[in-house]
Amino acid sequence: MYAFFRNFYLCAKFQTMTITEILNKVGPSILQQAQDSGTEGSRTLTHEKIKLLLAAEGDDKKLLFDQALQTKLAHLDNYVHLRGLIEYSNICTKYCLYCGVRCKNLKVERYTLSDEEVIECAKLAHELGYGSVALQSGERSDKAFVDKITYLVQEIKKIDNGSLGITLSLGEQTEETYRRWFEAGAHRYLLRIEASNEDLYYKIHPHDEKHDFQQRLACIDGLLKVGYQTGTGVMVGLPFQTLDDLADDLLFFKQKDVAMVGMGPFIPHPDTPLWQYRDQIPSAEERMELTLKMIAVLRLMMPEINMVAATANQTVDPQGREKAILAGANVIMPNLTPNEFRENYLIYPDKACVKDKPDECHSCLDVRLAAIGHKVLYNAWGDSVAFTKRQKKS
Ligand code: SAH
Repeated sequence: MYAFFRNFYLCAKFQTMTITEILNKVGPSILQQAQDSGTEGSRTLTHEKIKLLLAAEGDDKKLLFDQALQTKLAHLDNYVHLRGLIEYSNICTKYCLYCGVRCKNLKVERYTLSDEEVIECAKLAHELGYGSVALQSGERSDKAFVDKITYLVQEIKKIDNGSLGITLSLGEQTEETYRRWFEAGAHRYLLRIEASNEDLYYKIHPHDEKHDFQQRLACIDGLLKVGYQTGTGVMVGLPFQTLDDLADDLLFFKQKDVAMVGMGPFIPHPDTPLWQYRDQIPSAEERMELTLKMIAVLRLMMPEINMVAATANQTVDPQGREKAILAGANVIMPNLTPNEFRENYLIYPDKACVKDKPDECHSCLDVRLAAIGHKVLYNAWGDSVAFTKRQKKS
């Protein structure tokens, strides 16, 4: 039996408070707080209560998703923010055990977009009214790369006098590099911790100077210090991951007080070492459900952060992105990478939207979101409300 199902039984057996009781206590009082003070408040859920919520089924699960949605609507309304995703390069110096573009995967045809291609993508994002772009890449930290990103950020900032917000997702860098890119105009940075439990971290990464848990933590702290709206996150349904790990991941996000979180189901890639454990992880459906519960519980804990409905959700379930929005997510990252390169940025297999054209994504999104009572907030940066309020206070 998988570790986290064992956990389900244990927590069900020793629970002292029912899920409904927890939710009735947490959910409405969050709404009350929002109305009273307009602040995020100090919602605290203990490790044990989080575990119980992550194990919710049936009516309890429905109530969890409902409370999370109501909490989101009360704090952030029904707006969805877009980040046009530009997958800049699949050249990577690392060899994370889960990732399809790890440098040791020799089957991947490597590419880097030209400056013109990046600028064209950013202009398209602007024309489509996305308000923000996210530049993501395999990890490099050599001088040429750092200089190039600085230049690209400055060029993107020139489009319509700085009207596009810029998120970077370029892995671990020195604090100096983070500062340079921040000063060039980037203001949000995504660096998932991947697993906040150090033991688990080393089960999904090699343990060497290039893959160091303490270093990753230091990078997240560096990003916060430089002043980025900092995002982190984890994959859900990893081999060896338990419900205790996932509960601790949520507490880690809260403790770091991050502005943004991205979580998606782990998807085994055949050309990676973790593929060998594909039969020892929960089914795709279970990984999806657990991801939705993680999103919902975190929305109760951190009502005003930005949370992305990751593409991995849609890969596992065609309705995955909508389900994530209904569970409490409020950001979507439509892919703007030129189609000819997309199939080489396969961090996991069968990635959703690889064949879609950017403008098709666009109209498809409006319709899909309207169907679930949400709407895109066009031409806005869509900053994290949690971050903006914190900045105003300090
Ligand atoms: N090099 C950048 C971007 C990595 S790709 C960085 O290190 O931050 C973005 C995210 O995709 C990763 O952080 C990881 O959480 C996720 N990812 C990678 N491989 C995956 C897989 N096989 N299944 C699901 N998500 C995966």
